[in-house]
Amino acid sequence: MTTTAAPAAQADPAPRPPASQGRPETPTPAVAALAYHGGEIVPVSTAQVPLTTQALHYGTGVFEGIRAHARPASRELVVFRLADHYRRFLRSCRLLRLSPVPETAEELAAVTVQLLQRIGVHQDTYLRPLAYKFRLLPGSPPGVALRGVSDALSVLAFALPPYGANGVRCTISSWARPGHRAIPVRAKLTGSYVNSALAMDEARAAGCDDAILLNNRGQVAEATTANVFVLSGGQLVTPPVTADILEGITRDTVRVLAAALGLPTVERELDPAELLLADEAFLTGTGVGVTPIVEIAGRELGGGRPGPVATELRRRYGEVVRGQHEQYQHWLTRVPLP
Ligand code: PMP
Repeated sequence: MTTTAAPAAQADPAPRPPASQGRPETPTPAVAALAYHGGEIVPVSTAQVPLTTQALHYGTGVFEGIRAHARPASRELVVFRLADHYRRFLRSCRLLRLSPVPETAEELAAVTVQLLQRIGVHQDTYLRPLAYKFRLLPGSPPGVALRGVSDALSVLAFALPPYGANGVRCTISSWARPGHRAIPVRAKLTGSYVNSALAMDEARAAGCDDAILLNNRGQVAEATTANVFVLSGGQLVTPPVTADILEGITRDTVRVLAAALGLPTVERELDPAELLLADEAFLTGTGVGVTPIVEIAGRELGGGRPGPVATELRRRYGEVVRGQHEQYQHWLTRVPLP
């Protein structure tokens, strides 16, 4: 991929190199040379926002993380669940009274496909659509508000290899996941990721790769940028949406893939002790894919090695997102490259 320097700030899940191996497993994500910005595809170096940008001050933006994979056998990329990501994006936008242009999931998907084609590189790519409150409309007073402010939309692309093959080590964070009465975490709002950043910073300071956050009731919610599953009593268990989680698209995918393997998923409250005592645990997310957890809060899981169920689900997920399973083609958007 033709790249420029990595961006200075990234809100979410571009996965960090795991601390557990003591060396970076993935290089720093490199941003693609072109971005969609201000209604057109431009060199990323010219895709700038002014200091007055409202979202910079108040966290009033929404975003998505989407992956496109290079298919080894053909000159095309396949984007995974593109329409589902943009449907969630538009739901998040509604909460913040954001009206991005283009305005439908189909049009947003088309812009994204066009961007990938213009970048034109046959390489795994991570896409970052970002809609944000931009500048005060004439006559609007300055201050924290969702009305009287214009909206903007950008889409960035990064080269980003897979993450977490050897599993990750997690803390249980001292930071709580915000409850839905404070911030609607089921929407993917930029401001919410202050919570993720604090928890990740604490985890890294403890020599770990990620943090699992509990909600205000002390039940397991999710990791900083991923959902959590455990294998317990022969069942997969994942916290329900009422546990103050983002309803991950990977979470939904894994549920389907596990069911096809004869392994049902139960959505129920999960307390931290059950997490520590689980036979296996793993994270799911667009950035992390399916990543086994090998240690939680200083306790090894599965002898400190990725468990068989997590390993199998990770393998199948990796095949499905690359279009290697006929029955899941409906999740893919094909992008022929020039
Ligand atoms: N929870 C949070 C807080 C996240 O940032 C993400 C990443 N988008 C997820 C869960 C997983 O969501 P998805 O599988 O849709 O990427």
